Amino acid sequence: MMKLKLCTYGNPVLREPAAPVAEITGKLKSLAEGMFEVMYAKKGLGLAAQQVGQTVQVCVIDVPPEADMDKQGGARLNPGVAMPLVMFNPALVEKRGSNNGSEGCLSVPELYAPVLRAEEVTVEYVDLAGERRRLTARGMLARAIQHEMDHLDGVLFVDRMSAIKKISLAGTLRRMKREMEERLGLGACPKGKY
Ligand SMILES: [Zn+2]
Repeated sequence: MMKLKLCTYGNPVLREPAAPVAEITGKLKSLAEGMFEVMYAKKGLGLAAQQVGQTVQVCVIDVPPEADMDKQGGARLNPGVAMPLVMFNPALVEKRGSNNGSEGCLSVPELYAPVLRAEEVTVEYVDLAGERRRLTARGMLARAIQHEMDHLDGVLFVDRMSAIKKISLAGTLRRMKREMEERLGLGACPKGKY
Protein backbone atom coordinates (compact mmCIF):
# COMPACT_ATOMS: atom_id res chain seq x y z
CA MET A 1 0.00 0.00 0.00
CA MET A 2 1.23 3.48 -0.77
CA LYS A 3 2.08 5.68 2.16
CA LEU A 4 0.24 9.01 1.99
CA LYS A 5 1.01 12.28 3.71
CA LEU A 6 -1.54 14.62 5.23
CA CYS A 7 -1.62 18.05 3.52
CA THR A 8 -2.38 20.93 5.85
CA TYR A 9 -3.64 24.50 5.64
CA GLY A 10 -1.67 26.68 3.26
CA ASN A 11 -0.94 23.84 0.84
CA PRO A 12 -2.45 25.03 -2.46
CA VAL A 13 -3.71 21.53 -3.32
CA LEU A 14 -6.45 22.03 -0.70
CA ARG A 15 -7.85 24.81 -2.89
CA GLU A 16 -7.97 22.81 -6.12
CA PRO A 17 -11.27 21.28 -7.21
CA ALA A 18 -11.18 17.51 -7.74
CA ALA A 19 -11.93 15.88 -11.09
CA PRO A 20 -14.63 13.20 -11.37
CA VAL A 21 -13.56 9.57 -11.52
CA ALA A 22 -14.42 7.73 -14.74
CA GLU A 23 -13.76 4.19 -13.52
CA ILE A 24 -12.88 2.60 -10.18
CA THR A 25 -9.38 1.32 -10.86
CA GLY A 26 -7.09 -0.66 -8.56
CA LYS A 27 -5.04 2.47 -8.14
CA LEU A 28 -8.07 4.40 -6.87
CA LYS A 29 -8.94 1.57 -4.49
CA SER A 30 -5.46 1.68 -3.03
CA LEU A 31 -5.72 5.47 -2.77
CA ALA A 32 -8.90 5.02 -0.68
CA GLU A 33 -7.11 2.42 1.48
CA GLY A 34 -4.21 4.78 2.03
CA MET A 35 -6.63 7.58 2.91
CA PHE A 36 -8.24 5.41 5.60
CA GLU A 37 -4.81 4.74 7.03
CA VAL A 38 -4.07 8.48 7.34
CA MET A 39 -7.57 9.21 8.70
CA TYR A 40 -7.42 6.52 11.42
CA ALA A 41 -3.85 7.39 12.38
CA LYS A 42 -4.95 11.01 12.98
CA LYS A 43 -8.26 9.96 14.59
CA GLY A 44 -10.44 11.77 12.06
CA LEU A 45 -13.97 10.91 10.94
CA GLY A 46 -13.41 11.71 7.28
CA LEU A 47 -10.82 12.56 4.67
CA ALA A 48 -10.93 13.90 1.11
CA ALA A 49 -8.43 13.32 -1.70
CA GLN A 50 -6.91 16.83 -1.58
CA GLN A 51 -5.87 16.17 2.02
CA VAL A 52 -3.38 13.63 0.70
CA GLY A 53 -2.37 15.74 -2.28
CA GLN A 54 -4.73 14.25 -4.89
CA THR A 55 -7.35 15.99 -6.99
CA VAL A 56 -9.79 13.19 -7.78
CA GLN A 57 -13.33 13.03 -6.44
CA VAL A 58 -13.03 10.54 -3.61
CA CYS A 59 -13.60 10.85 0.12
CA VAL A 60 -13.66 8.35 2.97
CA ILE A 61 -15.80 8.60 6.10
CA ASP A 62 -16.11 6.57 9.29
CA VAL A 63 -18.44 7.98 11.93
CA PRO A 64 -18.26 5.66 14.97
CA PRO A 65 -21.56 4.60 16.65
CA GLU A 66 -20.91 6.84 19.68
CA ALA A 67 -20.77 9.91 17.39
CA ASP A 68 -23.91 8.82 15.51
CA MET A 69 -26.30 9.56 18.37
CA ASP A 70 -29.26 11.82 18.87
CA LYS A 71 -28.18 14.52 21.40
CA GLN A 72 -31.33 14.05 23.50
CA GLY A 73 -32.39 10.44 23.43
CA GLY A 74 -29.15 8.71 22.53
CA ALA A 75 -30.77 6.83 19.64
CA ARG A 76 -28.66 6.06 16.54
CA LEU A 77 -29.28 8.63 13.80
CA ASN A 78 -28.15 6.50 10.83
CA PRO A 79 -28.56 2.88 11.93
CA GLY A 80 -28.96 1.68 8.35
CA VAL A 81 -25.68 3.11 7.06
CA ALA A 82 -22.78 0.65 7.04
CA MET A 83 -19.42 2.23 7.95
CA PRO A 84 -16.85 2.93 6.72
CA LEU A 85 -17.90 4.73 3.53
CA VAL A 86 -15.89 5.32 0.37
CA MET A 87 -17.57 7.83 -1.94
CA PHE A 88 -16.47 8.54 -5.49
CA ASN A 89 -18.09 11.46 -7.37
CA PRO A 90 -20.47 12.37 -4.51
CA ALA A 91 -23.28 14.72 -5.58
CA LEU A 92 -25.88 16.44 -3.44
CA VAL A 93 -29.45 15.47 -4.29
CA GLU A 94 -31.30 17.25 -1.49
CA LYS A 95 -30.72 18.94 1.84
CA ARG A 96 -33.08 19.64 4.72
CA GLY A 97 -32.99 21.64 7.94
CA SER A 98 -29.97 23.30 9.51
CA ASN A 99 -27.59 22.67 12.36
CA ASN A 100 -24.92 24.97 13.78
CA GLY A 101 -22.34 22.62 15.28
CA SER A 102 -18.65 22.64 16.13
CA GLU A 103 -16.39 21.42 13.36
CA GLY A 104 -12.71 20.67 12.87
CA CYS A 105 -10.48 19.34 10.10
CA LEU A 106 -7.32 17.21 10.07
CA SER A 107 -5.84 19.70 7.59
CA VAL A 108 -6.42 22.62 9.96
CA PRO A 109 -5.03 21.10 13.16
CA GLU A 110 -6.30 22.09 16.60
CA LEU A 111 -8.81 24.60 15.31
CA TYR A 112 -12.54 24.20 15.95
CA ALA A 113 -15.41 26.52 15.11
CA PRO A 114 -19.19 26.39 14.71
CA VAL A 115 -20.29 25.85 11.12
CA LEU A 116 -23.86 25.98 9.85
CA ARG A 117 -24.72 22.85 7.85
CA ALA A 118 -27.86 21.10 6.66
CA GLU A 119 -29.21 18.71 9.30
CA GLU A 120 -29.97 16.06 6.70
CA VAL A 121 -28.60 15.41 3.22
CA THR A 122 -29.32 12.98 0.43
CA VAL A 123 -26.34 12.26 -1.81
CA GLU A 124 -25.54 10.05 -4.76
CA TYR A 125 -22.11 8.52 -5.20
CA VAL A 126 -20.25 5.57 -6.67
CA ASP A 127 -18.95 2.97 -4.22
CA LEU A 128 -15.78 0.84 -4.29
CA ALA A 129 -17.51 -1.81 -6.40
CA GLY A 130 -18.41 0.82 -9.00
CA GLU A 131 -22.12 0.76 -8.04
CA ARG A 132 -24.13 3.98 -8.05
CA ARG A 133 -25.69 4.51 -4.63
CA ARG A 134 -28.01 6.94 -2.89
CA LEU A 135 -27.76 7.72 0.81
CA THR A 136 -29.69 9.91 3.25
CA ALA A 137 -27.72 10.95 6.32
CA ARG A 138 -28.47 12.95 9.45
CA GLY A 139 -26.50 14.59 12.25
CA MET A 140 -22.72 14.11 12.41
CA LEU A 141 -22.67 11.88 9.32
CA ALA A 142 -24.53 14.54 7.32
CA ARG A 143 -22.01 17.11 8.59
CA ALA A 144 -19.05 14.89 7.65
CA ILE A 145 -20.43 14.32 4.14
CA GLN A 146 -20.92 18.07 3.60
CA HIS A 147 -17.44 18.80 4.97
CA GLU A 148 -15.78 16.23 2.67
CA MET A 149 -17.79 17.32 -0.37
CA ASP A 150 -16.61 20.89 0.31
CA HIS A 151 -13.00 19.62 0.28
CA LEU A 152 -13.60 18.10 -3.16
CA ASP A 153 -14.59 21.60 -4.35
CA GLY A 154 -11.50 23.17 -2.75
CA VAL A 155 -13.56 24.66 0.10
CA LEU A 156 -12.47 24.47 3.76
CA PHE A 157 -14.63 24.70 6.89
CA VAL A 158 -12.79 27.89 7.90
CA ASP A 159 -14.35 29.53 4.82
CA ARG A 160 -17.78 28.85 6.35
CA MET A 161 -17.12 30.20 9.86
CA SER A 162 -18.96 33.31 11.04
CA ALA A 163 -17.40 36.69 10.16
CA ILE A 164 -16.50 37.24 13.81
CA LYS A 165 -14.79 33.84 14.08
CA LYS A 166 -12.87 34.54 10.86
CA ILE A 167 -11.53 37.79 12.31
CA SER A 168 -10.56 36.16 15.61
CA LEU A 169 -8.73 33.29 13.85
CA ALA A 170 -7.18 35.28 11.02
CA GLY A 171 -3.78 35.55 12.72
CA THR A 172 -3.63 31.80 13.47
CA LEU A 173 -4.55 30.92 9.88
CA ARG A 174 -2.02 33.36 8.47
CA ARG A 175 0.72 31.78 10.60
CA MET A 176 -0.30 28.24 9.52
CA LYS A 177 -0.20 29.31 5.88
CA ARG A 178 3.20 30.95 6.22
CA GLU A 179 4.67 27.89 7.94
CA MET A 180 3.27 25.63 5.21
CA GLU A 181 4.71 27.80 2.48
CA GLU A 182 8.13 27.45 4.13
CA ARG A 183 7.72 23.67 4.34
CA LEU A 184 6.54 23.43 0.73
CA GLY A 185 9.97 24.68 -0.24
CA LEU A 186 11.21 21.45 1.39
CA GLY A 187 8.84 19.30 -0.72
CA ALA A 188 6.07 18.61 1.85
CA CYS A 189 3.08 16.72 0.45
CA PRO A 190 3.80 16.71 -3.29
CA LYS A 191 0.86 16.39 -5.66
CA GLY A 192 0.43 13.06 -7.45
CA LYS A 193 -1.51 11.90 -10.51
CA TYR A 194 -4.43 9.46 -10.74
ZN1 LIG B 1 -11.46 18.49 6.50
